[in-house]
Amino acid sequence: MKIAIVGAGVSGLTAAHYLQRSHQVVLFEGERQPGGHTHTVDVMEGERPVPVDTGFIVFNTKTYPGFVRLLGELGVAWSRSDMSLSVRSERRNFEYSSRGLAGLFAQPWRAFSPRHWRMARDILRFYREAEELLAPGEEQPLGEWLRDRRYSDAFIEDHFIPLVRAVWSSNRARAEAFPARFLARFFANHGFLQLRNAPPWLSIPGGSRTYVRAILAGLNAEVRLGEPVRSVRRDNGTVTLRFDATEPETFDHVIFACHSDQALRLLEDPSPTEQALLGAIPYQANEVALHIDERLMPTRRFAWASWNAHLDADETDGACLTYWMNRLQPLEAKRNYFVTLNRTDQIRPDRVLYTKRFDHPIFSVHSAAAQSRHRELIGHRASSYCGAYWGNGFHEDGVQSALRVVEAIGAERQILDSARGNRGRWNAASAENSPRPRDASPGVQRVA
Ligand SMILES: Cc1cc2nc3c(=O)[nH]c(=O)nc-3n(C[C@H](O)[C@H](O)[C@H](O)COP(=O)(O)OP(=O)(O)OC[C@H]3O[C@@H](n4cnc5c(N)ncnc54)[C@H](O)[C@@H]3O)c2cc1C
Repeated sequence: MKIAIVGAGVSGLTAAHYLQRSHQVVLFEGERQPGGHTHTVDVMEGERPVPVDTGFIVFNTKTYPGFVRLLGELGVAWSRSDMSLSVRSERRNFEYSSRGLAGLFAQPWRAFSPRHWRMARDILRFYREAEELLAPGEEQPLGEWLRDRRYSDAFIEDHFIPLVRAVWSSNRARAEAFPARFLARFFANHGFLQLRNAPPWLSIPGGSRTYVRAILAGLNAEVRLGEPVRSVRRDNGTVTLRFDATEPETFDHVIFACHSDQALRLLEDPSPTEQALLGAIPYQANEVALHIDERLMPTRRFAWASWNAHLDADETDGACLTYWMNRLQPLEAKRNYFVTLNRTDQIRPDRVLYTKRFDHPIFSVHSAAAQSRHRELIGHRASSYCGAYWGNGFHEDGVQSALRVVEAIGAERQILDSARGNRGRWNAASAENSPRPRDASPGVQRVA
């Protein structure tokens, strides 16, 4: 079959990687740089480039079986990262981190605050009780679920809502509307419900673009970068793609590996099912800034963590999350580098190194219902859809959604079995056993 793939993020790259073996694949990417949300930027320290990730950063061997399998096939190495969280509220002069007692009591007087202890007690309670949400049942918005069970304000305001906002870059109202079961599944999958033996988090030396380059280097497919698809028409079992400058092209099948809203806009004749399912999972814009301004971090060093949620004076405003990149990536760097979402205006302009817009899916009770119908849009009118929005919005969700499409179109069963759950020949290795990289040396892209 001649297959067009629209989008070279992790979903499109995964689909291309597996389908190229038995099909003629053409991969279209609107931007000149492949990778989508996998976006590494070189910052120059003198003559030496420091490859800092501004999009996708971390994963683990337990809940990313498909992605880890892909890295293994490509010979891309990984190394230990760190998953710690801090919360800072400017309005309430409040900050703590999950990095041990020193982090929890970064403000030492909190040891005498009943509210702080209530938060700590409810954190332990939540990670016990959330397991009940793993059983199938009706969805309920998160805020309602927490209040029905009389969780303390301290837990909701000072821990849980900031955590959800930080992980999904969503504002407060959206965080409260999150489907509670969906969230519990995410927490369980990522080992957050296990207080002991949680899987170690990992990142890719040289930046996450290392795996994008490895996929492209081994791809027996035509890759068209900087060539956005402008519209897609389906007629009598064939698909026609239109572009800005070049002639329309016809394919047997199209895989939309872009976002749900982008795919819907491309369709000249969306079916009612496409309109209903893609329309139920909208996206929101987020601006990401790579910078060196420490003022975006908690004021006390003990409260610094890998993920830093910042609630400013108006706590109902959009999410602000700052990643401390030196703790997340194995950077050999002289300076601290930070990536902050949605607060570029608060960063000193002379400390901003790079900015970019990334859109995140918005999850709700409606989107959860649409996600459960993904298979209806695989092989639907010579079209299939994949993307992280079909799951929790993470890299593994992109890989798994692509594997569902690959499986339906027809590829080697064995590959899929092992990628799905480490059941095959290849098992996810421990961090210490990560394969040697084929080429971990980052190329240089100077920051504009
Ligand atoms: C700041 C940030 C940090 C993150 N950190 C993590 C993390 O640590 N771990 C994790 O698991 N996940 C993380 N994520 C989420 C994860 O990286 C993404 O959800 C995932 O990479 C999305 O993959 P995708 O293939 O669905 O979409 P994308 O990566 O967005 O790819 C879609 C591609 O389609 C292209 N496209 C769109 N329209 C067209 C068109 N008309 N023609 C041609 N091409 C088109 C786009 O240019 C894009 O390259 C992070 C995301 C962000 C923004």
